[in-house]
Amino acid sequence: MRAFVITGPNAAQAGEVDPPVARPGEVVVDVERVGICGTDVEFYAGTMAYLHTGEAEYPLRIGHEWCGTVAALGEGVDPAWLGRRVTGDTMLGCGRCARCTSGRQHLCADRHEIGIRFAWPGALAEQMPVPASALLALPDTVGPEAGALVEPGGNALRAVRSAALAPGERLLVMGAGTIGLLVAMFARAAGADVHLFGRSARSLAFARTLGFDHVWSKETLPTATFHAVIDASNAVDLPALALDLVEPGRRVVCIGLAGEPSLVDTRSIALRDLTVVGVLSASGGLAGAIDAYASGAVDPRPLVAATVGLEAVASALAGARGPGWSAAPKIHVDPRR
Ligand SMILES: [Zn+2]
Ligand SMILES: [Zn+2]
Repeated sequence: MRAFVITGPNAAQAGEVDPPVARPGEVVVDVERVGICGTDVEFYAGTMAYLHTGEAEYPLRIGHEWCGTVAALGEGVDPAWLGRRVTGDTMLGCGRCARCTSGRQHLCADRHEIGIRFAWPGALAEQMPVPASALLALPDTVGPEAGALVEPGGNALRAVRSAALAPGERLLVMGAGTIGLLVAMFARAAGADVHLFGRSARSLAFARTLGFDHVWSKETLPTATFHAVIDASNAVDLPALALDLVEPGRRVVCIGLAGEPSLVDTRSIALRDLTVVGVLSASGGLAGAIDAYASGAVDPRPLVAATVGLEAVASALAGARGPGWSAAPKIHVDPRR
């Protein structure tokens, strides 16, 4: 089968690889659609932290935002999965340790992460192996675009839940990329008064096309505090700003990752009685994201700028964009195209 393989920093191609075989407890999925995201860009550029800690190494098969159809079953898998459209959890805990058995399998020290950690092959391929325990069925109302946006949506939904807002309260979302915009969409669906802070005029203009009117740059940001701030940016200085902008006693949620350490003054956290929450992964948010897409409460499809084939992935990871593409932040891949 064909798959996208990164062989080193800024070196990758689509080519033939051995197809996966469903081991006991696993299925093989025919991949329908895959999103590429910032983590994938970092793997291609060679800057992803796991490349330096030994949790990932080249050659690398990436892709963790996906949907597809179950094509083969390993021993012990419920036959009802065969032929179902599915997506799944990126995080694959060992299932035996204290974290796994207490509902924190996404933090298992020995976890595989699909397309990311400890060489579990990713979704940028015609087929991929997935443990049946990580699968979630997709209703017919969730098409290929939304199906491949369940994983980022689950991350965004967990961030919104972590902000602990009541309807009508003011939320500031920092960062107007895919996660920031999904956070804004899920928060709007929950009744929050959503404000977006971004750096590029292009991304802010795009946010307005999604119906967000409270869109701010550093120069125009209101001085009033917010009932919660969610940092979905990759800017090194924004976590510290988030602590200054949140209402005392409330929450700052960190889901964005900067390329260098983001320093904050913990005196602000103590003296303003703040709760700072980190979010890693969509685990626990996946089912809610599927429900929101299926009901129409959130429609993530405008976030997709274009859908390309495996041949175009390397140039997309390098930042190239096609002439007819919209300003939307997400690029999708159809590996069978
Ligand atoms: Zn991602
Ligand atoms: Zn475990």
